[in-house]
Amino acid sequence: MNTTTGKYLSSKDVIMNHDCSGCGACTNICPYRKFGKNSPVDIFQCTEPIGRCDLVCPMTKTDHQDLQKKNLNTMDFSPLGSIIGIYKSRAGKRFKSLFTQKKTVTALNCFILKSQTSQKILTTRIDKNLKPKPFFAENEDQVINSGKTIHSTAPVLSMVNLSKEKGYSLTGLPCQILSIAKMNTLDEKFLRPVLPEIKISLFCTWGLYPDEYSNYLKKNTGKKELNNCLIPPGKEKKIIFKFSDKSSQENKLDEIKQFIRKSCSSCTDLTGEYSDISVGDCETDSAFNTLIIRTQKGLEIVNRAVQDRYLEISPYPEEALLMLETASLNKKKKNFS
Ligand code: SF4
Ligand code: SF4
Repeated sequence: MNTTTGKYLSSKDVIMNHDCSGCGACTNICPYRKFGKNSPVDIFQCTEPIGRCDLVCPMTKTDHQDLQKKNLNTMDFSPLGSIIGIYKSRAGKRFKSLFTQKKTVTALNCFILKSQTSQKILTTRIDKNLKPKPFFAENEDQVINSGKTIHSTAPVLSMVNLSKEKGYSLTGLPCQILSIAKMNTLDEKFLRPVLPEIKISLFCTWGLYPDEYSNYLKKNTGKKELNNCLIPPGKEKKIIFKFSDKSSQENKLDEIKQFIRKSCSSCTDLTGEYSDISVGDCETDSAFNTLIIRTQKGLEIVNRAVQDRYLEISPYPEEALLMLETASLNKKKKNFS
């Protein structure tokens, strides 16, 4: 079984071959590289043989046997990676008057702040130009506002490189969580940044180039304020845009697939296997999320969030588990080099 991903040795090669996932991990490290439109650009050709930017990039060569041992203290190549528990979940009764959707990640992040597990959450919000921007949410309102999906990628990890203090958690995509796992193995020489305390991964099958997608959104959703974009699970291939005035619009999913990042065609991780907690849709019940707990830290947060009515969990259906394992295996089989 092949347990290595990534065919490049340097992040420069990743960028030159347009295989960058836009995670931002190689920016804000040195003055030579800045984040451009969708990917980083080098403003000066660095001559170092290897740098932190190469070692932490999720698209450079990665030995998962070694990475799992160092990060999870285990080796588990089952379809969904290392798991302590899997549940159906949704925001708990405490949020009943605020929103009716499932919103597991929002509920967990609100609990992380309230319980002072972390002082802030590194996540993404949509700016006026309909592009995702990384930022630190420091209160419940900011967490709730950031819980809007538009499916394009933001250079969230550029902020990790600026972080000098402990006390934050991260919500990100599997490629971003993989980069954090690689940062965790850096030795002293490469100045390991301060890493997040809790890592929540969103399930991901693809992410979009932010620039092209924001232009599409501006053209196709008129002048209304966009609130959320949903892709319902199942065979109906559509994307639903929800607006602040409570109206909605459906477009064909195929229309936006032209903006999928090239890197996603070699990504093998559907659920974020190096996270503490992973969250995605539940294929058999659209009113719930799927919640995967992977670490003791993750288990403790979920148990306390349930106790404090921030979160509701229930047994995970066998049929949904089979579907998720199959989808995860398919992504690995299709993309493992
Ligand atoms: S994938 Fe991330 S680390 Fe790699 S080149 Fe792109 S932004 Fe840099
Ligand atoms: S499919 Fe993989 S590389 Fe693409 S955005 Fe999702 S996690 Fe990142």
